[in-house]
Amino acid sequence: MDDALLAVAREAKGFMPDDEGAALHEAGRRAAPCGPLLEVGSYCGKSAVYLGAAARAGGTVLFSIDHHHGSEENQAGWEHHDPEVVDPETGRMDTLPLFRRTIERAGLEDVVVGVVGDSATIARHWRTPLGLLFIDGGHALDIVLADYEGWSPHVAPDGLLVFHDVFEDPAEGGQAPYQAWKRAVGDGFTPESTTGSLRVLRGG
Ligand code: SAH
Ligand code: MG
Repeated sequence: MDDALLAVAREAKGFMPDDEGAALHEAGRRAAPCGPLLEVGSYCGKSAVYLGAAARAGGTVLFSIDHHHGSEENQAGWEHHDPEVVDPETGRMDTLPLFRRTIERAGLEDVVVGVVGDSATIARHWRTPLGLLFIDGGHALDIVLADYEGWSPHVAPDGLLVFHDVFEDPAEGGQAPYQAWKRAVGDGFTPESTTGSLRVLRGG
């Protein structure tokens, strides 16, 4: 990936080491010929830069979905809370301004389409087959399973399904994305690669 874009991705708030970002970008480039890319969970735009750069290279676009009010684990008092992403007027989290700034800095506004709303609601009305689906939204079990159930039917034949924050060992992290990954394997998605907590599967 371009050095300038890599610098923007690194600078954005969020939790994605360089090797996982590179693996995500590479999956996006491979998947782009199959259809647009879609991520559940924009946060401040870090993963959207990796995938947006892949979309640009592959002549497609990235849809990046988030209600921008944070997951349960991002709220005040939780481990992943960042007070800088709270709107002082409402007292609620609002990551949309940071997301927009990241995408503008990266020069990716023409290929990254932010979709603001609840993932399950948008999934119910979605029709376009996806080259790549990246699931990195809420990490509570009911939320991640709803994301998987709602979005995975839209992965194109030969498209890619990617999960973030998959930890087999409970000592390393929450188990919900791992449960969803296991369900995907049971449903016929084929594991292709693992980079840190990032897992890529191919559709059937
Ligand atoms: N992919 C991002 C990180 C996403 S963090 C990156 O790597 O940079 C998870 C995000 O999921 C949060 O911003 C939260 O607001 C969003 N989220 C959680 N539940 C959601 C839901 N039901 N619908 C839409 N977005 C949701
Ligand atoms: Mg994540």
